[in-house]
Parts: sequence; structure tokens; C-alpha cells
Amino acid sequence: MECPFCCKPSTQIVNTRPTYANSAVWRRRRCLNCGTIFTTHEVADLSHLVVIKKSGKSEMFSHIKLYSGIYRAAVGFKGGSKEKLVDKITREIEKEIVSLKTKKITSEQIGEIVLNKLRVAQSGTFLRFLAYYKDITNEAQLKRELTKYLPFT
Ligand SMILES: [Zn+2]
Repeated sequence: MECPFCCKPSTQIVNTRPTYANSAVWRRRRCLNCGTIFTTHEVADLSHLVVIKKSGKSEMFSHIKLYSGIYRAAVGFKGGSKEKLVDKITREIEKEIVSLKTKKITSEQIGEIVLNKLRVAQSGTFLRFLAYYKDITNEAQLKRELTKYLPFT
């Protein structure tokens, strides 16, 4: 792996440990050229996953898109580090997608996985994601969707 500081491909792994319930691997590396020590997180590779959207169009899976969607959904999140929570949820979702061992997934399928994770994590977060993900524009529509997903409505 290339050193992010001097760009020489001469790095050595100093230490390794799994993180995020084994969905990622944390490695400490040292550059043999400039001596800098830095940390990398290696996540399951979903860069070849194709997402089929509701419109029938497809696009490549994007970690950033998933992360930012969940981040936006967590607008009112209180009680801890939002970044940590969003990061954890995103990685758990990616781990689940990897376990499907598929090259194509529908946005609907991703949505269901996301909703299940959010339901466990934070109901307030979950509500916002539902409104965001399902393109819900009015109250009646939101209520209809909620009765499908939330046991307490
Ligand atoms: Zn270096």
C-alpha cells in the first residue's frame, strides 16, 4: 500500500485488529521510506455492486451515499457521537450486503436492510430515514408507511 504522506509504496503492517463486529479490519502501518505511522480501515469491497433503482436505472453502490443518507436521517440524534453511530450502522449494513453474495441489489432491498438496522438503533433516526428514503412528501403517506414498519403506531 502507498504511503499517504510520501506516496512511496513501501509500507509495513505494524499491528492489525478487527473492528465494527468484524466488518472491517483496522491496521496500523509504518512507511519504510519516511517513517510515518498511520492507520487504515479495510472494509468489505462493495465497489462492484450494482444498485437497481426504482426507476429501473442502475448505479454503482456508494459507501459515501449510504453514509450520508444515514447521517442526514440522524439529524436529531442526541446522546453520544453521531459520527460513531452512523459509521457503525453503515458498516453493519455493508457487512449484511456482503453476506448476500450478490452482484446486483435493488434500492428497495438496501432500504429494508437500512430500516431494520435503524429500527434497532434509534427510533427517531429511523423515522427520518423512512421519510427520506421512501420519498415521502405528505403526512398521510408517512402514516401509512409507519404502520407497516413500526410496531408502536
Ligand atoms: Zn512515507
